[in-house]
Amino acid sequence: MTPSPPLSTPAVERPAPPYRGRLAPSPTGLLHLGHARTFWIASTRARAARGSLLLRNDDLDQARCQPAFVAAMQEDLLWLGLTWDRAMVSQSDRIDRYRRALERLHAAGRIFPCTRSRRDVIEAAGAPHEGGADDEPLYPREFRPNAAAPLPPLGDRIEVNWRFRVPDDVEVAFEDARGGPQRATAGRDFGDFIVWRKDDTPSYQLATVVDEIEFGITEVVRGADLIKSTFRQLLLFKALGRLAPRYFHAPLVLDDKGERLAKRHDALALRTLRAQGRTAQSILKQFEQETRKP
Ligand code: GLU
Repeated sequence: MTPSPPLSTPAVERPAPPYRGRLAPSPTGLLHLGHARTFWIASTRARAARGSLLLRNDDLDQARCQPAFVAAMQEDLLWLGLTWDRAMVSQSDRIDRYRRALERLHAAGRIFPCTRSRRDVIEAAGAPHEGGADDEPLYPREFRPNAAAPLPPLGDRIEVNWRFRVPDDVEVAFEDARGGPQRATAGRDFGDFIVWRKDDTPSYQLATVVDEIEFGITEVVRGADLIKSTFRQLLLFKALGRLAPRYFHAPLVLDDKGERLAKRHDALALRTLRAQGRTAQSILKQFEQETRKP
């Protein structure tokens, strides 16, 4: 008699997937020291884990992105000694992938069309929102359509904003690899956010989540200004039925007045520093010293 096979196979521990990170500059200006430091941290973490690094060109914002900056950012990264492991991926080539994810969210009733302007939202939100000019104001709950009402079709060409309906008062939490535990409450700290714009382009929130999933990104390293977006993105991963990567939010580089470096600080653009005779080595040395500080 042959022995019958065991009813259940013993649990096998699956090895963790190899580290995959990404550098995701937006070609809306020249890279400055702040970007460079974040990308250097991303690169250092990927190399330390013997992982790979993707260069992603976040070029969805047609009004602000310029091809000259795409070339400049690659050159500047290489000058600094940062490399990536396969041909650069441009988000503008992947619109069909984002559209498919949008269709899934639509089929699951997780989004709704919104014809309110940004001004309407800001005025209704009342208090000035703390996220700053780059962040979305809190979407007023009274602007939402009834959740039970059937959704209109997306249509071939999208001409209204579509927003993700956040689960009210649900706490979203994650463990940041640098900052430790982070939590925010949906509907209070951030509201229904845009996933597709009325000019028929995907939002950063949706595109980045689809890309992390499809490129198998295991850790996202980016600036701490994006922490609030991470909460939004965690909800999208969940709605799409996928696990999120780990996150490491790097501290922002401030100028001597304590303000965030924006792209207008051309004085701190890598190119300007380079033209002034700064070497890549001295910049990397500065980063090493800064990150050693407590
Ligand atoms: N392209 C985005 C930016 O420059 C970064 C997005 C990200 O790392 O998720 O702000």
